[in-house]
Amino acid sequence: MRLLEAIVDANHRALAGDERAGLRPADFAGSLPVVVLTCFDPRLHALMPEVLGVPERDFLWLTNAGAVVTGPQSETARAVALACAVEGGREVVVLGHTDCRLFAPDRREAVARFRQNGADLGAAATALDDFLRPLFNERLSVATAVGHLRASPFLPLAIPVHGLIVDTDTGRLDWVVNGYGVSSPPARQAPLPPAGAGLP
Ligand SMILES: [Zn+2]
Repeated sequence: MRLLEAIVDANHRALAGDERAGLRPADFAGSLPVVVLTCFDPRLHALMPEVLGVPERDFLWLTNAGAVVTGPQSETARAVALACAVEGGREVVVLGHTDCRLFAPDRREAVARFRQNGADLGAAATALDDFLRPLFNERLSVATAVGHLRASPFLPLAIPVHGLIVDTDTGRLDWVVNGYGVSSPPARQAPLPPAGAGLP
């Protein structure tokens, strides 16, 4: 079993009552530290990094609103890539969660809440609307984030990018994307034509 498969397996066995279930980090030294992008929801603080079974020294934690990645070269994609290039992250997990309050309100309601909060949005309401657009489905958002990271020119293909959802009540992990064996993302299969080549 590889690192993330062992993490999910240990998680499920522990929830089923197996008191001996747990990860032996020494068995996965070549796959650690792991970079984990989550939502900033404070309920996750109590779960990290224990729900993954990795020690704090092997856990590089990035958070934002909804664990969203908006593009292969977005700020979050660059932060994840830096965590790998500079801090030595060997695998990446986009970890969404159940009952994410950011996904609950519709866009109009969210904009209204900003205004109730005293924000003078003006023309920026459109930009806020663009930001809120990916926040409509937790699983799809995780899959989209994984796709953007996998297509990122900053992140080498040798680093697996996975997607999981954690249940904030039980701590159960569920797969969205198993990133092992993905060696050639569609977005990078077709090389761009050289500059000046022109179209047929
Ligand atoms: Zn959330």
